[in-house]
Amino acid sequence: MMQLAEKIREAGVVGCGGAGFPTHIKIKGQTEYFIVNGAECEPLLRTDRYIMTHFATQLIEAMDAIGREMSAAHCVIGLKAAYHEEIAALEKAIAEADSAVTLCKMESFYPAGDEQSLVYEVTGRVVPPGGLPSAAGCVVDNIATVLAIYDAIHGAPLTQKFLTVTGEVKHPTVLRVPVGTSFARCIELAGGTLQNKWFCVSGGPMMGKPLTMEETETAVVTKTTSGILILPENGYHAKHRELRVDAMLRQASSACIQCRSCTELCPRHLLGHPLQPHKIMRKLAMNRDIGALLADPDIQRAQLCCECGICEVVACPMGLQPRTINRLVKQKLSEAKIRCDSGTGPFIPSPERDVRKIPTGKAALRLGLWEYYHLEIRELREDQPQTVAIPLKMHIGAPAVPVVKAGDRVSQNQLIAVCPPDAMGAAVHASIGGVVTAVGDRITIREAKA
Ligand code: SF4
Ligand code: SF4
Repeated sequence: MMQLAEKIREAGVVGCGGAGFPTHIKIKGQTEYFIVNGAECEPLLRTDRYIMTHFATQLIEAMDAIGREMSAAHCVIGLKAAYHEEIAALEKAIAEADSAVTLCKMESFYPAGDEQSLVYEVTGRVVPPGGLPSAAGCVVDNIATVLAIYDAIHGAPLTQKFLTVTGEVKHPTVLRVPVGTSFARCIELAGGTLQNKWFCVSGGPMMGKPLTMEETETAVVTKTTSGILILPENGYHAKHRELRVDAMLRQASSACIQCRSCTELCPRHLLGHPLQPHKIMRKLAMNRDIGALLADPDIQRAQLCCECGICEVVACPMGLQPRTINRLVKQKLSEAKIRCDSGTGPFIPSPERDVRKIPTGKAALRLGLWEYYHLEIRELREDQPQTVAIPLKMHIGAPAVPVVKAGDRVSQNQLIAVCPPDAMGAAVHASIGGVVTAVGDRITIREAKA
């Protein structure tokens, strides 16, 4: 019988909530804890919550299978205590399946879903700085990924995606659409936009990717798309996207008052990691040439930043951008192939951690998104577009290699691109049936009647 990891590999499952790490690699071997991230801590998103309420039975069946495969002593879903409906659905499914899955009910703080914060909330263990959850005996996946694993167990590849479309749209909704569906079609399914001019974020408002209206025209749903947010054209995201690096560094040197607030509220610092964004800001304020500072251990610790955005959205009283500057420093360090030395610990969480957690609503307020924060989104809309453009790279690792050519007829769920031999990556399948019309960095399929 085919092993679970092999089924997952064949189905092309990758982490649906983050960077798209191939799941079959993650679930090989044993673990003490298998933790599922149901926190959905990004304000406005409702995707995982919808799945937990409506697919609880499938989630618990898949978790039990993974737990057995990995000989996990504990299978835990971490979610917020405020998710009453989701908790009721999951507890019912656990009881019906006589499952050993447990729920860890957390406060509503951001970023409760950060992998390392979640591991600490569930186990009380700190993942060492720069390390993986496996260093603390844990494997973490998110809710949508576990649902994709359920489908893989039952022979279906990952070709359909759940995502939230909200903000300045007529009918905020959860969608289930084929991978490769255009953002334009998704926005149409949510009733269209309320404004003629707007700004888009792909993903959550704290960590998602900002897109202009022009960029949105060519964007498509990938295996990792969790949301499409339509936001005011002059809002926080649009303004910050315009800031240039030299202007940011100039601002840092003239305006950083070294209040330490960015460090004191940083979730990684609060876990005991030696990341101190105020020091990075101070050093760059004195010398704006990032390249000249790469040997400095304080600067190197920018690598420990998870880019959650708390420092710049919530903490900084001067409106500076420690997260964006950390991202730049990380890029320079990676180009120079420098890895920071975080020391050997012990890494002890701050006794202030609990009182310094940022309520999710506060993050939404600071982003100017309060009016969308409490929108009720319960509806699911589904669609079968006539055309999809499926990217060959929707995951960490090498792009998939096409096994079809223009003119080929394909059926839904047929394999259309494979992971190159000896490389990390994931297979790609047709999300609709039809005729392949183009093969480039995307495979375009147009529906065709038989
Ligand atoms: S983005 Fe800011 S708050 Fe978040 S981990 Fe990085 S330095 Fe810390
Ligand atoms: S919070 Fe802002 S002003 Fe305060 S130390 Fe950090 S970057 Fe500087």
